[in-house]
This record gives sequence, C-alpha cells and structure tokens, in this order.
Amino acid sequence: MTGGAGAAMRVADEWKKRLYQLVEVHLPPALALYRRIHARPELSGEETATAALAAERLAAAGFEVAAGLGGHGVAGRLRNGTGPRLLIRGDMDALPVREETGLAYASTVTSCGPDGQALPVMHACGHDLHTVAVLGAAAILAELRATWAGELMVVCQPAEETVGGAKLMIADGLYERFGRPDWGIALHVRPELPTGSVGLRAGILSAGCRSLDVTIRGRGGHGAAPHKAVDPIVLAAQFVLAAQTVVSRETHPAEMVVVSIGSIHGGSKRNVIPESVELKLTIRGYKEAVIAAADAALRRHARGLASAAGLDENEMPVFHPAEPPFRPVVNDEPLTQTLSALFTDLLGAERVVRQEPSTGSEDFGDFSPAGAELPLCMFHLGCTAPERLARVETGEEKLGLLHTPRFAPDAEPT
Ligand SMILES: [Zn+2]
Repeated sequence: MTGGAGAAMRVADEWKKRLYQLVEVHLPPALALYRRIHARPELSGEETATAALAAERLAAAGFEVAAGLGGHGVAGRLRNGTGPRLLIRGDMDALPVREETGLAYASTVTSCGPDGQALPVMHACGHDLHTVAVLGAAAILAELRATWAGELMVVCQPAEETVGGAKLMIADGLYERFGRPDWGIALHVRPELPTGSVGLRAGILSAGCRSLDVTIRGRGGHGAAPHKAVDPIVLAAQFVLAAQTVVSRETHPAEMVVVSIGSIHGGSKRNVIPESVELKLTIRGYKEAVIAAADAALRRHARGLASAAGLDENEMPVFHPAEPPFRPVVNDEPLTQTLSALFTDLLGAERVVRQEPSTGSEDFGDFSPAGAELPLCMFHLGCTAPERLARVETGEEKLGLLHTPRFAPDAEPT
C-alpha cells in the first residue's frame, strides 16, 4: 500500500494479485473460525473463549499480543519499520437473542441472566464476522509486510453492545502500551448491502447517546385522599408529555436529536398513591452539545413540574446516568476519501455506496478520546448475497435485519 490519508489511491496490479491469492489461502480457515465463533457466541463482558481465539490467531500471525485489556479486550501489534500506526478494530460480543436462522452452525448457546434465568445468545449483529475479518486482515498484512512500512494495531473489542468496551480498553492503557494510532478503521456488516460492496460516508455516521434513569418523586398517600398527597404518577405523565417538546420546540429544526422514554413503572395497587415513579430514557444526537442541551432541558422540565406541584428542594426528581455516554462516530474526511479510493480501485465504483447517517449508536468513536482526537473511519460491509436481495425485493424472502433472530449474513462472499 502506498499514499497517506487524503492521497488518491491506486494499487499496483502485482500487489492486487498477491492480495487475492492470499485471500484465497486464508478464506477456508477464516470461514471455519467464523462458524466456530458463530456457534459459540458470548454476551458482552463474557467474551473469554472468543478473546482466547483472537489472541491465539494474532500470536500465530507474528503479532505481539496483549490480552485482558478493559475486560476481555485483545490487541496485537506488528512493527514493520518506520511509518504511520494504523488501528483496525473488530468487536466480539453477541446479543441475548434466540437464533432462528436454521443454519447448520446456528447457536444453541444460553447464558445466565441477571436474575439467574437462561438467556439465549446469538451473534445477531455480526460481530463474529468483524472479529474474523480483522484477524484475517492481520494475517494477510503480516504476509504482505514487505510491501508496507509502519505499525499495525489490531484490536478485538469486548462489550460493544452494552457500550463501554472501547473506553475500557483505552482506560486500561491500550495506547500507552502500543502507542497512539495515527488512524483508526473499523467495519460493520449491513444486511441491506449486497456482498462484494461497501458503504462509506464522510462526517457523521452514527449518533452519540446518553441513557438516563429518572426517579420522579412525590408524596405517597391513600388513593381516596389525593389532596393529602403529591401524586408522582400524574407528575410522570406530565413529564412524558413535556419531554416531547424538547425535540419539537427547543431544538433547532436542522439538528438531529431523539428523546425516547422506553420504560415507566410506578405504584402497586389501585388505591395507593406511590412515593415515586421510575422512567428509563435514551437521548441520541449527532452533536454532543445538542445531546447535552436536550439532557439539560429534560432536567429543567422535571424540576419545574415538581416545583409547580409544591414539592420541596429535597423532593426534586433524580436523574442517574444508566450507562456510560458515548460519542457520535464522525468519519474523518481525508481518511474516508482514501478508503473510498482504495475500495473503488479494488471493487469498482458501483460497489462503493454512499451511506446516510444512522440514529443508532456504536462506541467506535471512543477510540478517538475527547481532547486527543484521531482520524477514524468506520465503513459498512455488504453481507447479503445479491440473489437473496433480489428475492427480498420481490417479496419471496424476508431480510433478517441486525439484532433480529433471522439475521444470517452470507459469510463466504462477504
Ligand atoms: Zn453491532
């Protein structure tokens, strides 16, 4: 490979030929590894077996390996002379979903849930494919080391679905140990895109997120004497309606922000006014300042309603962060252009598709810490064979989307 971020990229035919030969060699073991990881998925924070396989493959490819980073995180470094340091990241965790793909290597695995119940586990977001793809890239780039110079840092990240794995790996000294990368690249499969194609976008790719738990407090009492109580159920209902105006009346119409309240629980009996009501909500947005403004507005509405109901300062609503917040993924313009040119050369222009920003979230952005940003690019990888997509188009087949029991990427052509 030649050329830096932003430079037009044209890969020599000889190099391409060698690359395709190596892909042929590495594909069968990669598919075997994919089926093995797919059949034995592990939930966020439990990725022991997957991490062990990743560490073993990286060591076999000649990488210096660090395991147990931020939980089960694994990273490998290959030093190859003087040049830039590139990070490539794949995530490893699965979801509590019961697989219904009917594949020969479908998961039948369960894990133990928080209340001791059995949870079905499935790679319903394709992280098994990401892990195998970065390990395959690591093995091939190791064999091609005479054609490039610099350092390759391969990161197999745990706990993406529960968010925080990236941050934990950084906090556990990933960059102190292997150096701060000059660029970072990641991929995510997209069942809507045909195999053999990639999706790219410069700028915002996915939203940042804050998850909050809110306790709306009141003064409990007898349902027959509401005048002697302050009813938190009424206050919570007012808050739910007020929250709808944060996006529609307080945010600039050109800015993207979503506020969704996904859970509301209060009370136990018809004739008892409870002491409090619990809500769980998510805020998504493309800019951290816009998310922060929506968060502040929600708190202001909740306090204002409590105060109008006559509650005292020590009875104001309480907001707790439910999960670590995460940053939007913003793809660096020059790096995205470089990747786009490279993919165009390798795949053809018609197989490089422009993507729209998503309101979903992903913690890859945390590899570029606030105040010490580095250029990142996440691209989408098509994972449904074109003939299957054609059947989806005519209604003969239903496409299994990400996070659903029927998500089934066509691993070989992907
Ligand atoms: Zn995912």
